[in-house]
Amino acid sequence: MYNKSKALFERAQHFIPGGVNSPVRAFKAVGGTPVFFERAKGAMLYDADGNEYIDYVGSWGPMILGHAWDPVIEAVKKAAEKSTSFGAPTEVEIELAELIKEMVPGLDKIRMVNSGTEACMSAIRVARGYTGRDKIIKFEGNYHGHGDSFLIKAGSGAMTFGTPSSPGVTKGTAQDTLTANYNDLEDVKRLFDENKGEVAALILEPIAGNMGCVPPNDGFLQGLRDLCTKEGTVLIFDEVMCGFRVAPGGAQELYGVQADLVTFGKIIGAGLPVGAYGGKDEIMKVVSPVGPVYQAGTLSGNPLAMNAGLALLSELHNNRKIYDELDQKTAHLEEWLHRVFKHHEITHTFNRVGSMLGVFFCEDKVTDFESCSKTDVQLFGRFFHGMLKRGVYLPPSAYESLFLSNALTQDHIDQTVEAAEETAEELAEYIQQAG
Ligand SMILES: *Cc1c(COP(=O)(O)O)cnc(C)c1O
Repeated sequence: MYNKSKALFERAQHFIPGGVNSPVRAFKAVGGTPVFFERAKGAMLYDADGNEYIDYVGSWGPMILGHAWDPVIEAVKKAAEKSTSFGAPTEVEIELAELIKEMVPGLDKIRMVNSGTEACMSAIRVARGYTGRDKIIKFEGNYHGHGDSFLIKAGSGAMTFGTPSSPGVTKGTAQDTLTANYNDLEDVKRLFDENKGEVAALILEPIAGNMGCVPPNDGFLQGLRDLCTKEGTVLIFDEVMCGFRVAPGGAQELYGVQADLVTFGKIIGAGLPVGAYGGKDEIMKVVSPVGPVYQAGTLSGNPLAMNAGLALLSELHNNRKIYDELDQKTAHLEEWLHRVFKHHEITHTFNRVGSMLGVFFCEDKVTDFESCSKTDVQLFGRFFHGMLKRGVYLPPSAYESLFLSNALTQDHIDQTVEAAEETAEELAEYIQQAG
């Protein structure tokens, strides 16, 4: 069933570290061999062995209207014929900036980069340049790409300074990153008190999507807003995942809280490599060539990527009912998965914001990194493989959110529920045997 994928994975490992160009793809978190894909259309994925899957990853978000969506394909083809890159300004960059400004609250200026990582790294540099301060606050379990400053875990207990969670990150860098518990305003207050006048930026996922899906508690975002205003700290919403996904204006629109800087990625490029950061004029005017904070990119504002993004975001802007449809489909899936797990007495809890769904195999509500870590990773691996062999592609890690696309039909969701029913029966047997 997976012969070609297995052979490709074997071959890839000779030339690419771990056989993959991004670690989660290697299936280490769920076991087994990664599936190599060949093509996709709408809600369906087709692998190298000719197996088909209903897709709940959507390239980690960008495929919000499904794969190979015709207007995006057309836009890319047209742009490619005119040149794949100029390394010089083009009109489409302005069009996309104008559109994003219309969609996202409080965005005066925006700078295009090539990935979410780059967007977050740059936003931090801008915040430091703007405030003249060095330290940043981030939250445990939030992911902001692989920039050095973000690869820091909280030390245990009352330790204030982070320790690097990856070799290659220097102690110096780690010392400037302070880590707080998600959804814990008191913890953030403590860090501000211990580092008076030193915190340049507080960065967070306003809806955490890299520890399953963890929404902000009531008042959490507003509390952070108030603290940052009081402390003169730049509040950065990392909307790489939730931007354009939970609402056209992302989490800022959904929760009515205004950040100072916002970062984007994933959906913004419709599947091409794009990221962006932007915010208030007052802050963005420190960015080169207007101001002294340097940030550049040979391929930034790439015409293929800009045209693809413009096609997708235009649809999301003009057709708001997409968000209602996504919400209904995801609510339906959530409800049925709940019934299936309940029927088989499988301990579970869900978190959902719009079309982001976190599936956890643990009892208590997941609100932060610690509660997220209680999910049964083994069981998730079994669930993942049970679904995979029944033609449903879930994120290959217990700590990732599902992303639904509007290409999913009622039929797809019914098939998914059927697959879950059969898989849950297997899981229940396994749990019984394991005692
Ligand atoms: C994916 C992600 C990033 C990193 O973006 P890349 O394009 O993978 O570099 C940053 N922040 C969040 C919230 C993300 O989900």
